[in-house]
Amino acid sequence: MIGRFAPSTTGEAHPGTLLAALLAWLDARARGGRVLLRLEDLDRERVRPQLATHMQDALAWLGLDWDGVVVQSECAPAHADALDALAAQGRLYPCTCSRADRAGRRRAPDGGWAYDNTCRDRALPPGGWRAVTAHHVRARLPDDRVELVDDGGLDLSQTPARDMGDPIVRRRDGVVSYQLAVVVDDGAQAITDVVRGRDIAPSTATQVALQRLLGVATPRYRHHFLLLEAARGDKLAKLHGSIPLPALRARHSADELCGLLAHAAGLVDAPAPCTPRSLVARFAWANVPARDRVARFDAERGLTIE
Ligand code: GLU
Ligand code: ZN
Repeated sequence: MIGRFAPSTTGEAHPGTLLAALLAWLDARARGGRVLLRLEDLDRERVRPQLATHMQDALAWLGLDWDGVVVQSECAPAHADALDALAAQGRLYPCTCSRADRAGRRRAPDGGWAYDNTCRDRALPPGGWRAVTAHHVRARLPDDRVELVDDGGLDLSQTPARDMGDPIVRRRDGVVSYQLAVVVDDGAQAITDVVRGRDIAPSTATQVALQRLLGVATPRYRHHFLLLEAARGDKLAKLHGSIPLPALRARHSADELCGLLAHAAGLVDAPAPCTPRSLVARFAWANVPARDRVARFDAERGLTIE
């Protein structure tokens, strides 16, 4: 069994990152498996090199260790090979649509807009996908339905080509998309078990469709609850940068924070200080609630998760 935690190094670690890391790590450790840290740094515009170091420091501070660290940008040759393989199947096409072309059409399961595959009949230029500079490159998926229930019982079945639309595999800025890179890397790193936040669940069917095109095995999936934050008005959003790690670390020891996260995840009865290691023996998904939780922080009360 090989698991992985795959944070994007586009922002600082926060309680939601640490919770996701803890759950992926525990899932592997409790089953005697290995677990990799993959730093997803393909988004040249948003990635800053110090964020990769910051992420590793934050995870080590919490008490998590890894059987290997993979830097995603170093896997670029494998990503190019995958694009070549899709091109050889005649699956790639340039998408000349603008964002405005998509707005107001059909909602996708992830809350964004579905792409209606308008450009499917466009051909790649003579130089192939490498010669596409001003447009996204998409992959034409089979129109089949993907039947998929994750290990937590979440039904992720979709017809991704219709429900989400053909995915972008290479952005107009030349960056290989998350959807393609995650499939190639999970395959290359022989990942058997993917544990990640429920916000990504709607992408899973698209990823499975790409795995099938590329001849990559489908891992087991499990999508866990999210930490939310109060956003505008009464709305809640996925926790982002509103609880910065330095403030958290100034207020809580690593063991205290681990206890708070473990308690929120149903792993312990009280939010008492503990280490990730101490949670391994009694870790069970049956205890982890499905419901998203709201995280708040102030210097006086510290982190609270309700
Ligand atoms: N880098 C992605 C994220 O942080 C990883 C998603 C995944 O685990 O597949 O959202
Ligand atoms: Zn298009």
